[in-house]
Amino acid sequence: MNLPETGATVEELLAEVARLKEHDLPVRGGQVTAYVYDTGRGEVHEAAARAYFEMLEVNCLDPTAFPSIVEMEKQVVGAVADLLGGGHGIFTSGGTESIMLAVKAARDAAGRERPNLVLPVTAHPAFHKAAHYLGVTVRPVPVDLGTYRVPALGIKEAIDEDTVLVVASAPSYPQGVVDPIEEVAAVAAAANVPCHVDACVGGWLLPWLREAGADVPPFDLSVPGVTSLSCDLHKFGYAPKGASVLLFADPAMRRKAYFASAAWPGYTIINATVQSSRSAGPLGGAWATLRALGREGYLELGRSTLRAAARLRAGIAEIPGLEVLGEPDSSLIAFRGTDVDVFTLADEARARGWFLQPQLSYAGIPANLHITVTGVTLAGVEAMLQVIAESAEAARSRGPAELPEGLVDLIAGLDLESLDDATFAELAASVGVDLRPGAGQPEMAVVNAVLDALPAATREAVLVRFLSVIYQ
Ligand SMILES: *Cc1c(COP(=O)(O)O)cnc(C)c1O
Repeated sequence: MNLPETGATVEELLAEVARLKEHDLPVRGGQVTAYVYDTGRGEVHEAAARAYFEMLEVNCLDPTAFPSIVEMEKQVVGAVADLLGGGHGIFTSGGTESIMLAVKAARDAAGRERPNLVLPVTAHPAFHKAAHYLGVTVRPVPVDLGTYRVPALGIKEAIDEDTVLVVASAPSYPQGVVDPIEEVAAVAAAANVPCHVDACVGGWLLPWLREAGADVPPFDLSVPGVTSLSCDLHKFGYAPKGASVLLFADPAMRRKAYFASAAWPGYTIINATVQSSRSAGPLGGAWATLRALGREGYLELGRSTLRAAARLRAGIAEIPGLEVLGEPDSSLIAFRGTDVDVFTLADEARARGWFLQPQLSYAGIPANLHITVTGVTLAGVEAMLQVIAESAEAARSRGPAELPEGLVDLIAGLDLESLDDATFAELAASVGVDLRPGAGQPEMAVVNAVLDALPAATREAVLVRFLSVIYQ
């Protein structure tokens, strides 16, 4: 963009925003089965947007200057604590920040020289990111390849004297299953190690599913041994993005997440979060969403989510060549193809207006597609099943993306550090993945097939280049 010489009007700007968004996936309507959470109730999102807007310019940097944020945060955190076994919380910008703070608190409380984190291989990458940022080593534990749950014994064996935190998920994102929280928390407690439950996606969903009749095992702070828990309100809380709550059983542990600095001649710094200056918009949006829906609203959404998830599981199981992974405890469903390439299936579905999220094979778990069933899914569940069936059929006749011979070995052997972005983009274009400006949407089946064939470390290096080229 060239910074314009003179300012534009609101109308001009909004028209431009609409033009920029033209090729975005739709955020409402349920045809995008990841990233977005739609209640199907426009008035709820409208209430959130208006409260967000009212709080937009309030700065969470100084709670003494803006008492509204203290009151709102106490109410929001209090609602989450009420539902999830109590505790002392922090409102954060998302699951990643909640997890970052949980790991920081555990690291600082333990004071080990070489701290490590014990987690299931299905735990969210936010823990790897936190470990990477905070100088903590990760000790991954394999999951059972039939149930996709981590065995508590595996966790127990991975704990050593430098373990500062144990993690379990409720549920884990990839297959939507809840780890055996009671058992994992018990082995952590026996070793005198804190246990974090990652309920980022499930914290504000599982209690409503349980109330709607689902069999949900205990997973929250009321479970002995669980010392902290993260719950994203911008997922099944249906709040606008930028909303998560981190709860600690012990207020002393919460203080370990805080940061204060008086080591400069400017204003005093007291931060509960990673960010310092921070808009209160997301807090206002989350506060309004909770109140606009209320218990009844969430329970109703939970009921329709449960019905949609059950219908979807049964429907997918009936489609030849597809198989649901494990027995999801929540409303996240992953399925693989037995004789259908799932990456091609995802491209076929996308051509039909539906986005299904590809997941690469990892730690013995096959490549699959992931669907997040939300409150709006039920209304379109038959249409979704129809599209999945058609796309599976089309993918079967098309077959998997064909990769040029030797390509995977070539990439695996590249010194990616020494390539510049332009050379990387040319190389990608030469095998049919055109990332250069103006080339349009690359065919994702090829990208995914290449990534899937590479070891994790090379996948990561390629992904970094991919991002760098996109933003060139
Ligand atoms: C989404 C998610 C996270 C990370 O949350 P962000 O809000 O995207 O930072 C962590 N854990 C689980 C299980 C999740 O589903």
